[in-house]
Amino acid sequence: PEAEFAHPVCAALELAGGPALPLASGRADDWFESDGQITKRPVRALTLSALAPRPHEHLWDIGGGSGSIGIEWLLAHPTLAATAIEPRAERADRIRANAGRLGMDRLHVVTGAAPDALAGLTPPDAVFVGGGLDTALLGWLETHLPQGTRLVANAVTLETEALLTNAQARLGGDLLRIELSEPAAIGPRRGWRASYPIVQWSVVL
Ligand code: SAH
Repeated sequence: PEAEFAHPVCAALELAGGPALPLASGRADDWFESDGQITKRPVRALTLSALAPRPHEHLWDIGGGSGSIGIEWLLAHPTLAATAIEPRAERADRIRANAGRLGMDRLHVVTGAAPDALAGLTPPDAVFVGGGLDTALLGWLETHLPQGTRLVANAVTLETEALLTNAQARLGGDLLRIELSEPAAIGPRRGWRASYPIVQWSVVL
């Protein structure tokens, strides 16, 4: 059916005789224009795996940043829907531009801060919190999200990590600490340079 090939990126690449698109989540960071605030490729792949999209589901991507999580969610299947929530106007604009360039302009972008900006949105099946997590936001999510909603939150600071480990003790779910290193020069040799560890909490509410 024609609709399966109507994706603008696929169509453009086909015309240009360009490379085939990778199908797995965790596409290269340079697919997404950003100001540096982006969930890096390996962590993004683990995050999409934890979010585990099923056909027809709707994601809230809270703390959209560059939009990479919401966009990769949408890339997983044409029936998926996503809403990115991002308070900084220039980032919200960048999310719209990234989504449009990758043929995912069905990404709904809300310029505003959670939890206030969440009221009135179509309820989600899955929620990712990549920014803005505090007691107020977690409390709002706990009281407003439908039972059965999947929640995934990534923490990089000790403060947010403490919030997540306490939440896991109270509500259950899985904690995962992601520690990744990449080679960097040490004089003429190389050593592993560690990124900040990320603590990821995944729970079904
Ligand atoms: N996952 C994103 C990166 C997130 S960076 C990506 O891959 O591109 C964290 C983002 O959370 C920042 O853009 C910041 O502006 C946003 N943020 C901070 N407080 C927030 C809040 N209360 N509600 C929504 N977003 C928030």
